[in-house]
Amino acid sequence: MKTLSIIAEIKLSSPSHGPFTIPDLAAQVHAYERGGACMISVVTEPKRFNGSLELLKHIRSLTHLPILRKDFLTQEKELDETLAAGAQCVLLIAREHTQERLIELCMYAISIGLEVLVELREEKDFDVIPLLPKKIKIGINNRNLTTLETDVAFALKLIDRIPADRYRIVESGISKASELEPYRGKADCVLIGTALLESANPEALLRSFNAANKTPTHTKRPGYFGDYGGLFVPEMLVEPLKEATDAFNQARKDPSFKNDLNVLLKQYAGRPTPLYHATNLSKDLGFNLYLKREDLLHGGAHKTNNTLGQGLLAQRMGKTELIAETGAGQHGAAVAMIGALLGMKVKIFMGARDVERQQMNVQRMKLFGAEVIAVTSGSQTLKDSINEALRYYVSHFKTSYYVFGTVAGPHPFPSIVTYFQKVIGEEARAQIRKETGKLPDIVVACVGGGSNAMGIFSAFKKDSGVKLVGVEAAGGASLNDGSPAILHGSKSYCLQDDNGNICESQSISAGLDYPGVGPEHSHMRDTLRTQYVKATDAEALNAFKILCEREGIIPALESSHALAYALRLKGKLPAHTSVLVNLSGRGDKDLNTVLNGK
Ligand SMILES: *Cc1c(COP(=O)(O)O)cnc(C)c1O
Repeated sequence: MKTLSIIAEIKLSSPSHGPFTIPDLAAQVHAYERGGACMISVVTEPKRFNGSLELLKHIRSLTHLPILRKDFLTQEKELDETLAAGAQCVLLIAREHTQERLIELCMYAISIGLEVLVELREEKDFDVIPLLPKKIKIGINNRNLTTLETDVAFALKLIDRIPADRYRIVESGISKASELEPYRGKADCVLIGTALLESANPEALLRSFNAANKTPTHTKRPGYFGDYGGLFVPEMLVEPLKEATDAFNQARKDPSFKNDLNVLLKQYAGRPTPLYHATNLSKDLGFNLYLKREDLLHGGAHKTNNTLGQGLLAQRMGKTELIAETGAGQHGAAVAMIGALLGMKVKIFMGARDVERQQMNVQRMKLFGAEVIAVTSGSQTLKDSINEALRYYVSHFKTSYYVFGTVAGPHPFPSIVTYFQKVIGEEARAQIRKETGKLPDIVVACVGGGSNAMGIFSAFKKDSGVKLVGVEAAGGASLNDGSPAILHGSKSYCLQDDNGNICESQSISAGLDYPGVGPEHSHMRDTLRTQYVKATDAEALNAFKILCEREGIIPALESSHALAYALRLKGKLPAHTSVLVNLSGRGDKDLNTVLNGK
């Protein structure tokens, strides 16, 4: 049975109860953390609930859990304040707005990187549900607004009217574990306030709520991130992937492997890459913008971190050949480069249509001595080249190693690629602390398969005050518009049609044109550790031009999506805020697309 998560609430007072006595706010918040709450709700309404944004900011500083702001909000400006105060999620009450206005506010909140909980209070509110983006959480409040009484059966009566693919929250009135039971299998989450605030031992009470969840969380299963990841492959691939897992686990513990990798990262690839305070743009935007310059890495993008690491791993395993699939050719070129460096044979599988479209990268691979195999099956693009490469791998794994290009795919690839990309975040974290004396407020990265994003996010995952934002291409937004499924050997969010077929994605930037995403991103999406937003082709092109004009840097179109989000925050953040954007690659490769629209 699905886990029923608990949102635990802090409010200083309420119209039905009067003031609450919270002797030690920090102790209360920590009790919520230890008791297993998934989020903390903070009521900021000043008049009847005695709340404030200051209260929210204070709680933000006390916890790593995501925060939900509850208030009667009606203006975009108030959503900006909510973001600046560090909340991840905001409540909008359906009956306070017309449908059009509610949708407008939802879209705005999502665009700046806030999750939304839309609260329904009466039956006619339910009409809006089909009009809301899938990512929006739907809550039913059990409190009758006229009598202020709560009726736990109210939500139960109506919850089936919310489609099961929505995230469903029940609010108000629940005070003991037994009252949760009827909601099991129907709701995803229950919000509990008064009962916890009145309890002498909120941690124990929360534990009693959570104890009824029989399915343990899966975080400890190897290869899983919460419910996502795993190893869904044909029998023939199990042995080669096990061999890779064992070799990787040994290598990461071996100081001589780390040393070999570090020497090459430094002398060959040019690490550490600089952190740049983009001063001109910072002036325009009204906050401090920092760029992590992966565009300056040898090869022109972060991909070198991964191909170098996996190339060395393959060599250590005694393999003589590297194989890889490639779409637009960027990953193929990065593998071919490392094959030349390490003196290994390289076979790149590339859809025949892509070979035609991406001649520059094909020539680059050939210069490095790689063999490029044009795949003529199926749609002659990335999907078919993955299948072809896997087929070859199965019959040649004694001598060959498959270099996966991003944090997706079957276990162990998500872990291996994250391990080799995390150097980005480790460097950036130390660099920005040295420069500003503190951690950044917001870290932004574009998300295709998700490797440059995992690379920079992983160093900040445990820092409670740091907001993480992943930016997807609007035409390939698995985490915003998709649903969980199995694709390329693991479970994660994917773009699917109504029959469960994987859809083609459509983006101006080849690197973001992928219908799936790495499993850890799916987990971070569901737990709200990271907010995932979308940027359109037009926004990315605009950001591309602005960085050229204002800073003299040509960003990759992929990275331009991350920048586009930062530009959206212009004038919305306090001047001392620092926003760190991962500039995953340089844009020389994209000049044709930008200048000629192809
Ligand atoms: C390949 C690529 C990406 C997308 O891949 P991720 O695995 O999502 O990082 C992003 N930026 C650049 C410059 C790329 O070359």
